[in-house]
Amino acid sequence: MAIPSDMPQGETPDVVTGAGRLTVDLSALRRNYRRLVQAAHGAAVAGIVKADAYGLGAVPVAQTLVREGCTSFFVAQLGEAIALREALGGSAEILVLNGLQPGAEELAYRAGVTPVLNALHQIAAWRRLAHRHGQRLPAVIQLDSGMSRLGLPPEDAAWLAAQSDGLDGLDGLELTLVMSHLACADMPDHPANDAQLNTFREIAGRFPPARRSLANSGGLFLGPDYRFDLVRPGIALYGGAPHPGAEVAIGVGNPMEAVVTVEAPVTQLRTVPAGAGIGYGFTRRAERPMRLATIPVGYADGWHRSQSNCGAALWQGRRLDFIGRVSMDSIILDATHAPDLQPGDMVELIGPGRSLDAVAQDAGTISYEILTSLGSRFQRRFVDPQGARP
Ligand SMILES: *Cc1c(COP(=O)(O)O)cnc(C)c1O
Repeated sequence: MAIPSDMPQGETPDVVTGAGRLTVDLSALRRNYRRLVQAAHGAAVAGIVKADAYGLGAVPVAQTLVREGCTSFFVAQLGEAIALREALGGSAEILVLNGLQPGAEELAYRAGVTPVLNALHQIAAWRRLAHRHGQRLPAVIQLDSGMSRLGLPPEDAAWLAAQSDGLDGLDGLELTLVMSHLACADMPDHPANDAQLNTFREIAGRFPPARRSLANSGGLFLGPDYRFDLVRPGIALYGGAPHPGAEVAIGVGNPMEAVVTVEAPVTQLRTVPAGAGIGYGFTRRAERPMRLATIPVGYADGWHRSQSNCGAALWQGRRLDFIGRVSMDSIILDATHAPDLQPGDMVELIGPGRSLDAVAQDAGTISYEILTSLGSRFQRRFVDPQGARP
């Protein structure tokens, strides 16, 4: 959105456009990456930047991580990989988690990105491509160690391992990484973690020596056995708790630092009498005279309707509950306990006093969905208080 350059002084874009403000703290991102490097104890730490880096912005996030020495990036789709390669240039490896669509081989090859090969037919197509170009191509294969989503089922992996010296197997390819993904890594006590670890070890062991990778954010904190050569954190980079359930249940703190702040200005304040209907459908009525504040953020901005009557904003340490339904472009807050709140004051929706995981819990979802739902109307700012450039 273009702001005229001759705006009178003091009129900030946030006030002019009436949108909420989304701040991404790249210094905090950098510190989170360093924390993960420490926690990885020598395993390489890739950056998972799929879905536009969980909604934060894949390019600024990846550029920041490159400067921290990150050399591997994972996205979900080939289109994301191509865009990231154009933006990053350079030599970092860019891997496509969702695999190789039939017919996409040449496009991936030309973009210099590597599909994660999830099925035998994908491996065969990649091998034919290598043959056509007379080149040994890097290959990454994913094994399904129990999640039943992507990757070679154990019987296909066994077949492939048996062929690995012959023409049907990995011939023409250089196996650079064997990976799998955990279904329950956010639940440290879940027995599936051990089971998947054992399955992965056993199947991966049948392939020629290559780097191995099993852990996402949650997996990285499950212990040394899970780290292998490369770990793949996403949500932890962006400040989400790797084990959010444990954080709530037993008070284990989130080791990561908040990266995203979302604030919104108060648009209007009113006092309503007892009995007044509040918002669409009158799902709430004022039990007493109430002071209400309206903010210009709604479900179109990613504050889902499921937060009707259960979300909250924070202002000067005070919790202002969402009251009534979340609408498309606005939310009503109970500001009865904030008599000094004024139009234009900024309330916090995610920030130091209101963690991403707390918001997710109130919304009945996970931090991932909160971040990837953040809408395009926010005034986005990337700040880097400790960095070289903004
Ligand atoms: C999304 C994803 C990750 C990152 O997961 P987080 O839980 O965000 O750390 C890692 N590996 C695979 C295969 C993924 O799909």
